[in-house]
Amino acid sequence: MAHDPGNTLEVLLETTFEQLGLKASTLKQLQKIGYEKPSPIQSAFIPVALTGKDCIGQARTGTGKTAAFMLPALERVDLSLPKVQVLVLAPTRELSEQVYAESRKLAGGDKLKFALATGGRPIGKQIDDLESGAQAVIGTPGRVIDLLRRQHLKLRNLMVVVLDEADRMLDIGFRPDIERILKSCPEERQTLLLSATLPPPVEKLAQKFMSSPQMVDLSEDRVVVDTIEQYYITVDEDRKTALLLRVLAKEKPGQAIVFTRTKRGADALHLKFSKRLKSDRIAAIHGDLPQRKRDKVIKSLRAGEIRLLIATDVVGRGIDVSGISHIINFDIPEYCDDYVHRVGRTGRLSSAENGRAITFVTLQQGGELTNIEKRINTVLPEYKVEGFEAFRSRNRPTRTIKKFGQGEE
Ligand code: AMP
Repeated sequence: MAHDPGNTLEVLLETTFEQLGLKASTLKQLQKIGYEKPSPIQSAFIPVALTGKDCIGQARTGTGKTAAFMLPALERVDLSLPKVQVLVLAPTRELSEQVYAESRKLAGGDKLKFALATGGRPIGKQIDDLESGAQAVIGTPGRVIDLLRRQHLKLRNLMVVVLDEADRMLDIGFRPDIERILKSCPEERQTLLLSATLPPPVEKLAQKFMSSPQMVDLSEDRVVVDTIEQYYITVDEDRKTALLLRVLAKEKPGQAIVFTRTKRGADALHLKFSKRLKSDRIAAIHGDLPQRKRDKVIKSLRAGEIRLLIATDVVGRGIDVSGISHIINFDIPEYCDDYVHRVGRTGRLSSAENGRAITFVTLQQGGELTNIEKRINTVLPEYKVEGFEAFRSRNRPTRTIKKFGQGEE
């Protein structure tokens, strides 16, 4: 009988944590923190990772991927050995901190010792944590290299190394650091790679540093399409701010992230909006903002104090806040994969309501819109705003594709 991928997904959704092969103590902890059933990526990834084989999981933030890789990794830790046995590399400080917090929640208690190794934080505390017997380390490649060089981080006893959001780490230019770190790991180890997308550079990295990896490919496009209502709207460059105000008035988002392509664009929009709306509930976040300020913004966002966050891709994509109801692509993303990442900030596992994503497209950007639609294999419907119709019908971006068949590029 032919294999039906549709059924596979349903079977995965039916799985219980008990069926995945996790230890009784882990199951007890999951119950304690209120995880009732595994997410699809957890159902698919955990049993494979528990075999000790190298695995590649295609999943984005918000799908429960942290528990998917961390539960099998933490189960391998020998609690009586006060040495680093698990190392997780993540692209940004924010994501590392989220993985750190989620991992501590999953481990429960303080038997298992963790250390954070991210830049922008005092290195002294990180050194203390390492020297006092950290068993799982989570960090960004730059600081990890620094700690390795200073010989506070020793990887002799390492059992599992995780590359989280591998695609983004390579985009940011961490390849040399990652390669150095992987070369410092023992040959006999398990490597887990998580990535929202699998472009050739990620495949190359996997080929070089992983041994016969098992692929766990849970179609994330499907996840994006299923849980998020996505639209596009055409607009002239100089009317974007006016349109944004209209969209916000119409949608009344609980919390929204507005993505811009550049840091300057984010700052300029922030300035315009702060003046206009006289609100302290708006903030901008990008790579030039000092770490202390970035932390403050994320904290306020999580607390629900910030309602509108203007962000660039690098920083924005790591944000895991369950209340985000809307993503507005003020600037259409430069790369299709960034679209998937941006839109993944909403429609999250932990939020009950569906999210909405609205992409602003100028007349010249019809081709870019088509590329995104090909990437997600969906034709986006047009979003309508009163007062913008006349303009819209005049300036419709030219799109070449109406519908995509399966297997099409
Ligand atoms: P992640 O994709 O790892 O960033 O996880 C997204 C959010 O879902 C986090 O807030 C997790 O704490 C939560 N989460 C992950 N797995 C489960 C689960 N099986 N049940 C309930 N919540 C979960």
